[in-house]
Amino acid sequence: MADVVTRFAPSPTGPLHLGHAYAAFVAHDMARAAGGRFLLRIEDIDQTRARAEWEAQILDDLRWLGLRWDGPILRQSDRSAVYHSALDRLWSRGLLYPCTCTRRDLEEALSAPQEGAPMLGPDGVIYPGTCRPLSGNVRPRPTNGALRLDITKATETACVSANALECLTFLETGHGPNGETGWITTNRDDYSDRIGDIVLARRDMGTSYHLSVVLDDAAQGITHVTRGEDLFEATRIHVLLQRLLDLPTPTYHHHNLIRDRAGKRLAKRDDARALTKYRMEGATPAHIRALIGLA
Ligand code: GLU
Repeated sequence: MADVVTRFAPSPTGPLHLGHAYAAFVAHDMARAAGGRFLLRIEDIDQTRARAEWEAQILDDLRWLGLRWDGPILRQSDRSAVYHSALDRLWSRGLLYPCTCTRRDLEEALSAPQEGAPMLGPDGVIYPGTCRPLSGNVRPRPTNGALRLDITKATETACVSANALECLTFLETGHGPNGETGWITTNRDDYSDRIGDIVLARRDMGTSYHLSVVLDDAAQGITHVTRGEDLFEATRIHVLLQRLLDLPTPTYHHHNLIRDRAGKRLAKRDDARALTKYRMEGATPAHIRALIGLA
């Protein structure tokens, strides 16, 4: 069997809770079962929220859980040059445009009575195209401010082969929120209608989750991306970016989210479920595995 490489990619913006432990175990166990490698990536592009103390706590919790990662840790904050050069490539092909719309502008444009309820995609409200230029950009790429991907142009240019459908396809070995599994295909109209012109460089970060995750998975040679089913729809965006940037598409394995007793998914702010709390109460890693149904 070809080498299996998985990763756990937490953001150091709060304590790890049971949901993170589940995600880490899934990635770790898949790699170990296949004799492959389990890598760690710290997703700290949001420098306003990332804290070194949280990263230290995350590493400590992972060690306590008995999870050992292979090789060096990759930190997104070390990789801005890579993100910028990818943005340059997309810009030079006329696939990006600057966008100065604020969230409030979008809400106002979309709350006009004739528009009906705003459509939501994997990246929030589907952008109505307010800033999209009518003709291509000729200027050098602005290095501050948000940049959006012209999704219609992107899907037209992503697949040079005749079979566009096959080109924007990925293999799902877990499941999406509605049980989606197997070969998942997105057609061009769905990209335009259900995803829209997403932001690839945020004003405050100079990059975005989508761009960074795709470049990082490729740089780490990830063969199997395991993560929560809430990111299933975002994978359609990731596959498109992989085609535009000539990167391989890994196999995806989306898993259940761990929910609280009321059925609500756990969030970072739910410190009640933080691993540190269980540790302080004397739980063992075996208890944690049992609590999240992995025993
Ligand atoms: N950093 C993301 C999180 O903390 C994970 C993203 C991914 O696995 O693609 O949920």
